[in-house]
Amino acid sequence: MNNMVIDLRGCSEDELIRICQEIGLKRFRAIQLFQWVQQKAVRTWDEMNNIGKGDRQALRSHLHLYPLERVREQRSEDGTRKYLFRLEDGETIECVLMDYARTSSRDRHTVCVSTQVGCAVGCAFCATGLEGFRRNLTVAEIVGQVLDITHFVRQEDPEFQVTNIVFMGMGEPLLNYDQVLQAILLLNHGQGLNIGMRRMTISTSGVVPRIIQLAKDNPQVGLAVSLHAAQDKVRNDLIPMNRRYPLAQLMEACQEYTQITHRRITFEVALTAENAKREEAQALARLLRGQLGHVNLIPVNPVAGTGMERPDPELMRRFAQVLEDAGISVSSREERGVDIDAACGQLRRQWEGELK
Ligand code: SF4
Repeated sequence: MNNMVIDLRGCSEDELIRICQEIGLKRFRAIQLFQWVQQKAVRTWDEMNNIGKGDRQALRSHLHLYPLERVREQRSEDGTRKYLFRLEDGETIECVLMDYARTSSRDRHTVCVSTQVGCAVGCAFCATGLEGFRRNLTVAEIVGQVLDITHFVRQEDPEFQVTNIVFMGMGEPLLNYDQVLQAILLLNHGQGLNIGMRRMTISTSGVVPRIIQLAKDNPQVGLAVSLHAAQDKVRNDLIPMNRRYPLAQLMEACQEYTQITHRRITFEVALTAENAKREEAQALARLLRGQLGHVNLIPVNPVAGTGMERPDPELMRRFAQVLEDAGISVSSREERGVDIDAACGQLRRQWEGELK
């Protein structure tokens, strides 16, 4: 066994079994350890009270446990909570918990997870994109966001369970592909938080080769595509990724994705005062003809420095009507946490601004 210290929160159960075997501990220790971290969401070794001190000491010399530091937490009137977490190297990321009361017996608690520090894609409407790319998150840091939110909320509500995950926070998940897929396996694990594959959704700006790869590697997980415009000349300005993978290629990949997975793709369309127009809606209807999908309209959150303005609700309604008339399934995303800067990257920008 080498002396490299491994991130405990990023370890699979099999890796922990292997490590335990190598240091002379029984298999059941690995399973206990996995449950403490991935199911009970503890943040310290001392809380693992069914693992003897000696064994804990042996494990600590091979495994590193670093909980994220909660730098700031904002709570919205609608129940949305937004967290700013500091990572071990001092970088900060955002993460949002949205609580949706449902008519059925169980509540839905969705965590919006970040996958990178900053983002290289540089979408015109996004506060994260304005800051540029810093680095990919590790598996431990991706899973850690869900674990730490679980830990903090359970201090008030011991029964709390995250039910859904959207990889829609800071960063382009498909540009940190391997880590995101491993994090999904951990979050889905039966001895962990046990979040169903179909309750997790990856949102992409359109990394075409990875969309097809995802269909083959994990056809169960959901896919959302940030479409935002149906014409290349408009989308090129909103999402620079479109210059590399224009709409024709993107839609071809989406067709292939649905052929492999038989799953409906969610197409996200952020509407601004500028693009909520009839011609855009008609172009979108033409683009999506024959595609198994659903359109989610999102009124853009105003972000300082982007010059974007929220559209009039009547314009949004008319936009949706054009799509419905063309037989396309459409909904408008409920606005969450508008009073707490819930758009991705805003809290981090504000906090970094205060430090300057
Ligand atoms: S919207 Fe997503 S992909 Fe675009 S810049 Fe922001 S974080 Fe990156």
